[in-house]
Amino acid sequence: SERQPVSLRMILDDVRILMESEAILKGVNLHFYLLDQTIVCDITKMKQVMINLVRNALEATPRGGVVTVSVEKSLPEHAVLIQVSDTGIGISADDLSEIFNPFFTTKKGGTGLGLSVCKQIVEEHGGTLEATSIESAGSTFTIRMPLPDTTD
Ligand code: ADP
Ligand code: MG
Repeated sequence: SERQPVSLRMILDDVRILMESEAILKGVNLHFYLLDQTIVCDITKMKQVMINLVRNALEATPRGGVVTVSVEKSLPEHAVLIQVSDTGIGISADDLSEIFNPFFTTKKGGTGLGLSVCKQIVEEHGGTLEATSIESAGSTFTIRMPLPDTTD
């Protein structure tokens, strides 16, 4: 796995291009609010993480709903926060404690592997992945990634 300094905007622009057609097919509005930020990562793996989170969000969100990907810098912890929020079905408190476990799925034909792999990849990069949710209102997945020492 190759780690290199890379523009987060470049990664997320690619994710947007890949996911836009799925969003249109589902009738869900997909929005991006991107602050550009250099991170050090394995580009392929980070794209995989973002695609998984956006796909889950789209799958959970009914027609007319909104999925938002946003990036902000958190100076106190010298980290970047990448959030994927949806106005979807939400996650019950019981399920919330299980979703990162391998093979946990509530979907017909789901593998239950997406989130466990996402968490593993983010943690390999020294980051964290957390979820919050309100049932029948929506969910937010937050990645916290440490910033490189020489930052812009
Ligand atoms: P899969 O998508 O194959 O079910 P994941 O590991 O990606 O596996 O997700 C595990 C479970 O977490 C899903 O089956 C679903 O219950 C829940 N989940 C994940 N993302 C969301 C979301 N954005 N909204 C509601 N539930 C979600
Ligand atoms: Mg999934």
